[in-house]
Amino acid sequence: MADIIQLLPDHVANQIAAGEVVQRPASVVKELLENAIDAGADSIKLIVKDAGKTLVQVIDNGKGMSHTDARLSFERHATSKIRNAEDLFQLNTKGFRGEALASIAAIAHVELKTKQVDDEVGNAIVIEGSEVASHDIVVTPTGTSVSVKNLFFNIPARRNFLKSDTVELRHVIDEFHRVALAHPNIAFAMYNNGSESFNLPASNYRQRIVNIFGTKTNEKLVPVEEDTEVIKISGFVGKPEFAKKTRGEQYFFVNNRFIKSAYLNHAISSAFEGLLKPGTHASYFLNLWVDPQTIDINIHPTKTEIKFDDEHTLYAILRSAVKHSLGQFNIAPVLDFDRDPELDTPYSYKNNSVSIPKVEVDSNFNPFQEEKKFSGKQTTAFKPTPNNWDSLYVGLESKSNDTVVDFSEVHFESEEQTASVFEVDNLVEPSHSTYQIHNKYIVSAIKSGMLLIDQHRAHQRVLYEEFLKTMTTKEGISQQLLFPLQLHFSSKDIAIVKHLKVDLEHTGFVFAAIEDDLVSVTGVPVGIPESEVSIILEQLISDVEQEVPDTNFSATDLLAKSMAKSLAIKTGQALKKDEQEHIVNKLFACKEPHVTPTNKTTFITMSVDELDKKFI
Ligand code: ADP
Ligand code: MG
Repeated sequence: MADIIQLLPDHVANQIAAGEVVQRPASVVKELLENAIDAGADSIKLIVKDAGKTLVQVIDNGKGMSHTDARLSFERHATSKIRNAEDLFQLNTKGFRGEALASIAAIAHVELKTKQVDDEVGNAIVIEGSEVASHDIVVTPTGTSVSVKNLFFNIPARRNFLKSDTVELRHVIDEFHRVALAHPNIAFAMYNNGSESFNLPASNYRQRIVNIFGTKTNEKLVPVEEDTEVIKISGFVGKPEFAKKTRGEQYFFVNNRFIKSAYLNHAISSAFEGLLKPGTHASYFLNLWVDPQTIDINIHPTKTEIKFDDEHTLYAILRSAVKHSLGQFNIAPVLDFDRDPELDTPYSYKNNSVSIPKVEVDSNFNPFQEEKKFSGKQTTAFKPTPNNWDSLYVGLESKSNDTVVDFSEVHFESEEQTASVFEVDNLVEPSHSTYQIHNKYIVSAIKSGMLLIDQHRAHQRVLYEEFLKTMTTKEGISQQLLFPLQLHFSSKDIAIVKHLKVDLEHTGFVFAAIEDDLVSVTGVPVGIPESEVSIILEQLISDVEQEVPDTNFSATDLLAKSMAKSLAIKTGQALKKDEQEHIVNKLFACKEPHVTPTNKTTFITMSVDELDKKFI
C-alpha cells in the first residue's frame, strides 16, 4: 500500500495549536499582556472592542523587537525565552512555548508594530491566517503594539461558539485582573469600546487590589506573610464577614503567575473553617514564591495549572499562615488603615449577628398598615400591593413568629386572594386545612388524596411570578429609605448593577447614584427590609455571574428569580395556619405552580389509591 502519512502544513498545525491556546478573546488578552510583561514594560495598555471579538490590542513600552525577530516571532516554537529543556526549571518569564503569536496569527488578522529603544524606526507586520500580508518600516514609539482583529475569522464554528459580549467581556476583565494583580509595579490601563474601564497606576499590592475592587476593599483585607525555606507567602485574605457567595475574588499567584489549584484553595477554606457563613467563600489574594526548580508549569498550554514537588508541605504552611493571620486580626485589627481599633468587633461576634435581628422585622412594616391590622379593621389600604402579604414573611425568624402581626385578619380579604381560591379549586382543589411538617413541608388534603408542598420552593414560584409581573408592568411600588444605603461593590459588580438598573427600578428600587465602586440606594421595593438589600444585590450579582454560560440570559427573568430566591420563606421556618394556606392559595394561582423558576418540583400529590396500596 502507498504511504499515507503526511506532515501537516504549518498553517494547519498552527490552527490546531491555536485551539489549545486561544479559546476566546480573553485568551488573546492573557497572551499579549504576558508578552508585554516579559518584554520588561512598565506601562501596558489594553484596548478591546466588542468584548475583544472585533479587536484586542495591547500596547507596551517594553524592549521591542528587531527587524528579524519581529518576523520570527510569528513562527511556531519561536521564543526568546528558553533555549533548552533545562531552562524550563529556571523560568522567570511568563511565556516559553513560543506558540502564542503563531497560534493567534493563524486564526485572526494581526498587526504588529514594534521598535527597540536604540532604533530610529520600527517594523510593522500584518499577518492574516498565518500569511504575511505586509512588512514595512514605520515610525512608531519604542515598545510593541499588537492588534488582533476579527478573532476566528477563518473558523466560523469557533466564532459562533463565543458567548455574548457581556460574558466575553467578563472573561477579558477577569484575565486583565489576574495579570494586573500579579504585577502591581506595572501601570495598566484598559479601554473598552472607546471608554476607560480601568486605570491602574504602579503601586503596592494593597493599593492595586483596592484600585481594582473598590476603595471599600481596603478595610476587608487581612495581611498574610510567611517566609520559610520552601515557600514565601505574602498577600491578603478577606475578613470572614465579607465572604462572598461567589468564588470570584480568589487569587493565587505562584512566582507572579496566576494559577488555579483546588488543593491549595482547600488549604485556605480549611483555615477559614468555622468562620464563614454556609455557602460563602473567602476572598484571597495570595502570592507564593517557590524555587522554580520545584514546580512544573508545563503541564497545561494556558499554564494556569502547575505541579508542585511537595504539595503537602505547601498546603500545611499556607493553611497555618492564613490561620495565624486570622487569629492575629481577631485580637489586633490590621494596623495600616485609619480607624479606631475599638470599633472592631471580633469576628466571632460578627458571625453571630448574621441572623437577622428581630427589630429589623418591625422596621419593615408600614406603621399605617400595622395600625389597621391591629385594630382589626382590614381596609383597602392593604390591597393595592399584593406583594405586601408575602413580604410580611420576609426575614422573619421562626422564633419571632409569635411576636409578629396576626395574619389571620389580613387573610382572604383582598380580591387577589379570593381570586386565587377559585383558581385553586379548578386545579387540584386543596382543602384549606393545612398542616406543616418539619418546618419544611405543607400537607393538605385534596379531593383525590393528599398534597405535599415544599414551602421554600412554593414561595419562590409565587414571588417569582409576582416580581415578573411588577417588572413587566413596571408597577413596582417603592418605599423611600430614611437614609440612603451606601453599598460598596467592585467595579466588575458595579457593571452588572448598571446593566440591571432599569429592571431593578421597575421592581421599586430607586438609585441615587451608581458610581465607580458605590451604589447609593434611596428606595426599595415595598416589603423588602433594608437589611436585606445588600444580600439581595449580592445574590443577584452572583447569579448573573453563574449564568455566564447561558447566552439567552434575560435580565428581568434573572432578577425575578434571584429576588424570589433571596426573599422566599426559608426551610426551617415555622408557619402559622394562615401563612400555610396563603402559600397554598398563591401557589395554585401561579401560571406554573408545579416547578420553581429553576425547574425544581414544588409539590407532589399522592392519590388515595396510592396511599391505600402502601397499606396493603
Ligand atoms: P513566548 O512568549 O512563549 O516566547 P510568543 O509567541 O508569545 O511566545 O512570542 C514569541 C516571541 O516574540 C517572544 O519570545 C518574544 O521574543 C517576542 N515577543 C512577543 N511579544 C513581544 C512584545 N510585546 N515585546 C517584545 N517581544 C515580544
Ligand atoms: Mg508569549
